[in-house]
Amino acid sequence: MEDLLYRGIIDQLNIRFVLADCQQTVNDIILKQDCDPVSAAIFANAISSAALVSSLLTEDEKYTLKWRCDGQLGLVMADCNAQGHIRALISNPHLASSATTEADIWGKEGSVSVIKSSTTQILNSGTVEANFRDLAQDLAFFFSISDQIETAIVCKNIFNADPQHPIRTARAVMLQALPGCDLTIFEQVRKRLESDECKQLLTPPVVTDNLFEIIVKYLANGIVEKPTFSMEHSVSPQFKCSCTKENMIAAAASLSKAELDEAFKKDGELRITCQFCNTTHVIKPEDMA
Ligand SMILES: [Zn+2]
Repeated sequence: MEDLLYRGIIDQLNIRFVLADCQQTVNDIILKQDCDPVSAAIFANAISSAALVSSLLTEDEKYTLKWRCDGQLGLVMADCNAQGHIRALISNPHLASSATTEADIWGKEGSVSVIKSSTTQILNSGTVEANFRDLAQDLAFFFSISDQIETAIVCKNIFNADPQHPIRTARAVMLQALPGCDLTIFEQVRKRLESDECKQLLTPPVVTDNLFEIIVKYLANGIVEKPTFSMEHSVSPQFKCSCTKENMIAAAASLSKAELDEAFKKDGELRITCQFCNTTHVIKPEDMA
């Protein structure tokens, strides 16, 4: 089943919403990164968040998201483009065996960095300190502080016992205040989004025709009488790595001549494995000419 991304605006509230159903993308990346259940639970929110923010991009734009903390988790990175292609990595995919408490996992300090770029230039970049012990909330905080767009993100993941298909459900919702949005009302909608009742609405195993409509109505309910909203289908999120032999050759070109000579003398080739997708690119001396 194809993953889904929808976006729209609640008219009376000037609030943008994005809804993602991305269990396939999350499964693909979690399996590629060989995550244990503890790492997968944390990492899933980074992947779902990347799916959400891909809807904010156009043409050749791309987001690179990096979360760092001084706990065992270390680094989580995700990037996405306007076509909904998402890839991600986690420096510690085996937290179950390396951390025993939440404090071990997250450490004391954390930060989130966001770079928005096109194929030719960096459009925007920033870093904020954040350690909500939830990568989706960290990212929402980044947008609220650095881009000054009040943002809330909630993810709901449900796990399967099947190691080949660890995630049964991965859904996520993002809200953003548009110009003219009353921030006290935004807070009320945020509370509804974060409520257990709303999380319950996100859990059905299959996306029914009106699931997303029910969620948007729930969010606006009690705040406006008869909420009206527009909702459009955005690109379908999918795991897709952008690595190519050409960009690996470009990366190899940054090695010194002595390092390259040594590698080629020893094995006759240079093997570079992409950390995102595990593809090994084989570079021969003639490729470097
Ligand atoms: Zn790759």
